[in-house]
Amino acid sequence: MIKGVLFDLDGTLLDHRAAADAAIADWLAARFPGHPRGAEAPALWAALEGPYLARWQAGECTVQEQRRLRLRALCRELDVPEPGPGTDGLDAAYADFAARYRRSWTAFPDAAAAVAALAGSAGPALGVLTNGTQPMQEAKVRAIGLAGPLHTVLTGEVLDGHFKPSPAAYTGAAAALGLAPEEVLLVGDDVVRDVTAPAVTGMRSAWLDRLGVERAPAGFPRITTLAALPALVASLD
Ligand SMILES: [Mg+2]
Repeated sequence: MIKGVLFDLDGTLLDHRAAADAAIADWLAARFPGHPRGAEAPALWAALEGPYLARWQAGECTVQEQRRLRLRALCRELDVPEPGPGTDGLDAAYADFAARYRRSWTAFPDAAAAVAALAGSAGPALGVLTNGTQPMQEAKVRAIGLAGPLHTVLTGEVLDGHFKPSPAAYTGAAAALGLAPEEVLLVGDDVVRDVTAPAVTGMRSAWLDRLGVERAPAGFPRITTLAALPALVASLD
């Protein structure tokens, strides 16, 4: 019996990719109007995201250092001058991007109804298990209007430094709901972090395949919209 449901945030409840793409395109256009590779900037920025976030999550640098490193890498890729002077200049440039990113935060159209369908005193305990920074991820949940039912937001910053796909992230998140991993279903868009890795702890998982193009990992439920989630939760024993 599923007694708790954990949602991934970026790519699951909030359209992170669309927001980040729009923000970095705006950022580049404001600083370097008419850049000949401007159309490539969103893909370049997206490709840099995982490797630099991983360095922060592994404890190799601070979150702010990874932002500077990532911005520097983008400037190198696009052959534009690095924002300066010094780290203050880089931090200001990143803050400019982040403000544009925040303004673009939007929930996927199926998110609110799915959360509402599961919320309520008789429903499962709900929460968010996500890999960003705690203040930013909490701000995102508020911004998309889901902070009421999803007031439990869990990042590695409140799980003793354990980010997905560390097993301790899943066991810690289940414990935060007052449940055993076996009683919790995690739903998310990342095949490893949200689907196969939690299974090691006994946590249940479902893959949200919004694009509907990839092969599902064997043995895990796959849905293409959160509208299918309440029925899936009810069908699991
Ligand atoms: Mg995600």
